[in-house]
Amino acid sequence: MTTKRLYYDDSYTLTFEAEVLEITAHADRPAVVLDRTYFYPEGGGQPSDRGMLNGVPVLDVQTRPSDRAVLHVLASPLDAQQVIGEIDGERRRDFRIHHSGQHILSQALERAATARTLSVHMSESSMTIDVDRTDIAPEEWEAVENLANRVVLENRPVRAWFPSAQELAALNIRKLPEVDGKVRIVDIGGFDITACGGTHVARTGEIGVIKVVKAERRGETTRLEFKCGERALRDYRSKNDVVNRLAALLTVGYWELPEAVMRLQEQNRTLQSELKAARERLATYEAASLLATAPQHGTYRLVARALARSADEVRSLAQALTAESGVIALLGAAGEKAQLIFARSADVPIDVQPLLKKALELIGGRGGGRPNMAQGGGVSADLDQVQAAINAAAALLA
Ligand SMILES: [Zn+2]
Repeated sequence: MTTKRLYYDDSYTLTFEAEVLEITAHADRPAVVLDRTYFYPEGGGQPSDRGMLNGVPVLDVQTRPSDRAVLHVLASPLDAQQVIGEIDGERRRDFRIHHSGQHILSQALERAATARTLSVHMSESSMTIDVDRTDIAPEEWEAVENLANRVVLENRPVRAWFPSAQELAALNIRKLPEVDGKVRIVDIGGFDITACGGTHVARTGEIGVIKVVKAERRGETTRLEFKCGERALRDYRSKNDVVNRLAALLTVGYWELPEAVMRLQEQNRTLQSELKAARERLATYEAASLLATAPQHGTYRLVARALARSADEVRSLAQALTAESGVIALLGAAGEKAQLIFARSADVPIDVQPLLKKALELIGGRGGGRPNMAQGGGVSADLDQVQAAINAAAALLA
């Protein structure tokens, strides 16, 4: 039994009475068919309404394909002949303004950017339109938004109706209907005329504002995300808040933020290279001081030391030590990810890899390298544990 769809002529009424025609189920949930309804069933890219029937939550509203009856899917069974339906007004208004906003935006995209709408997606979290162009320039986006928002500001009346076949043939329709039979047309004050079964505003002023917030290329198309009314306000509020906080942190005007961040990045790069140079100089001095007290083992001097430093610093020190002739450096960086860094000067004919293997047997972890430089670890080990591992390796040299 077909349901009379009252929302076609009136997308503002939220409370209504109806008779239950059928008690059924949909996707393992109880459902009812009513003789008349203001509930919008999912379709045409627009999600369904939510609300209550006699106080029972309506979780979903779907059209039954076989007879186009409207199925009100319920949270629990409903045993009644007469029902009072109540539609969630916030959700209805949100989709109403975004659906009308989408029609206006699609028309504005055609006029100001020669971009045709391919598909539309609406949800509680995002509203997107896919168009058939990939190279829309910033000034085109601006023209599209300006045109769309002018139509909003003009507060044009919106009409939705089922025209006769003759009337339909005479209309300049943006999107041709996909179905045979009766076609519902939505005319946004003469600006955009499209076949559509959705819920729309009575006048464009209700939309408030239309803002494209993101556009990304997807193959040969562009997906744009837009926001209207309160969603746009919330978006503006949160972005404004972020921008103001950043501007206060960097003590610049918000328009100077990109330059200020680029300056910071540049300073950071300079500081990093200065720090690296300073560490290398420090390692040279430290190497000299360690070598001054290093014991002589035949033809080479041995530095075997665990340090509470970063692995990078310890590596710099190993390099500084073995830049001198006749040195073996068995160093370790203690910590959460302890590292052993074993190296020798070019003129010392000893392979440090077996030494590393021996040391890793004590603290665990993996490693490898070449005869003159090997590194390993990656496990948690304190100074004493690292020193003990280094001592075990040094014992092989004796
Ligand atoms: Zn539509």
